[in-house]
Amino acid sequence: MIGAFHQPTRVLADVGVLDSLPNREFAAGMAEVIKYGLIRDCPFLDWLDANMAAINARDADALIEVIRRSCANKAEVVAADEREAGQRALLNLGHTYGHALEAELGYGKWLHGEAVAAGMCMAADTARRLGWLDEGQCEHIERIIAAAQLPTAPPRELERARIRALMARDKKVTAGTLRLVLMRDIGHAVVTRDYGDALDETLKRYFEN
Ligand SMILES: [Zn+2]
Repeated sequence: MIGAFHQPTRVLADVGVLDSLPNREFAAGMAEVIKYGLIRDCPFLDWLDANMAAINARDADALIEVIRRSCANKAEVVAADEREAGQRALLNLGHTYGHALEAELGYGKWLHGEAVAAGMCMAADTARRLGWLDEGQCEHIERIIAAAQLPTAPPRELERARIRALMARDKKVTAGTLRLVLMRDIGHAVVTRDYGDALDETLKRYFEN
């Protein structure tokens, strides 16, 4: 809830501190890690895919790599944003969907990372409907998210119209149109308004009513 406007010159992270987290909190953090692979770093996503068992076991070497690559990706996005406005918005992959889920479920029911994880799967579904991802890629994304012990779909009983209304309140609404962060391909996210009916079709798939 607090925004910082000065970039750090150095980031120090003690991976031992992660051992104090319950599994659910740890997994929630991994949603944001997987996000970097999905928006801009295919080799990192492949590495996560191959090393998820070590990550879940909180192997120190694996965690150091997770943090190193996440920080490097974030630093590159933030640095690029100073030249090319809007790059930073890519960090919101899954968040427009996820924030709506969090708000509708009531904050604290689902952890932020859990809502973002389901939201990234929903964003992948929207991209598939646009022909940007294929079925196999969507399954691949879901498999990695499930391997990180995160949900791949929201609760079915939520009401579609309410989720849609909450998404419309997202901070990425400019001039009355909701912009979405979607994957053009795995490892290549864009911000777009050109999703037509695909978003509504996604919501129909995930919510009964
Ligand atoms: Zn987040």
